[in-house]
Amino acid sequence: MTIRIDLHVHSMYSVDSTIRPEQLPLYARKRGLDGVAVTDHDRLDSALRISRESNFLILPGMEVTSLDGHIVGLNLKESVPKGLTAEETVDRIHDAGGIAIACHPSAFFKGSLGECATSRFDAIEVINSSAIPFRYSVRRSEELASRLGISRVAGSDAHYGPEIGCAYTVVKAELVAQDIISAIKKGMCQPFGKGIPLGMRLKREFFSFRKSRSP
Ligand SMILES: [Zn+2]
Ligand SMILES: [Zn+2]
Repeated sequence: MTIRIDLHVHSMYSVDSTIRPEQLPLYARKRGLDGVAVTDHDRLDSALRISRESNFLILPGMEVTSLDGHIVGLNLKESVPKGLTAEETVDRIHDAGGIAIACHPSAFFKGSLGECATSRFDAIEVINSSAIPFRYSVRRSEELASRLGISRVAGSDAHYGPEIGCAYTVVKAELVAQDIISAIKKGMCQPFGKGIPLGMRLKREFFSFRKSRSP
């Protein structure tokens, strides 16, 4: 079967996100998704807990701040520390049973990997709905994925509920985490989606700002 999954979503346990755990299945179903990956900044505990407590498919992951840029680790059993090189981070993700995704490798202002995205990664996030400039970032990431010959995936990088599903990956797999992960590794997946519309992006910034100011 084929399933649709947004592989990059931040819950409220990321300082800059306002998405409550119970909102994840609501918005995901509305967008016709079969699952989402929760990838909070430099923590795995939130994703593991949300995944355990939900009867909707939540892949536990995290977005690691490496010395060379952001890296998404999916299906992790243990947390990976920040501040290591990209190479060390990818190794740690593999040791923790996960796959390493070079997220938004070509976007501006986002801690992107650029040339540090290598074939050691399992996939390139070709479409990231939050990437600026969006079209440029998709084109560069496509070129990178072709050059490296690795899988292509997509995620919204949502920090605000309605952004969930702006981009998603179609995977040829059963609705089981391990099956999805091995299909992505084998390239049995395809990225889809678009950039976050401006109005939605402004709302995200507003709610994120309000959250950062609240006691
Ligand atoms: Zn990032
Ligand atoms: Zn992110």
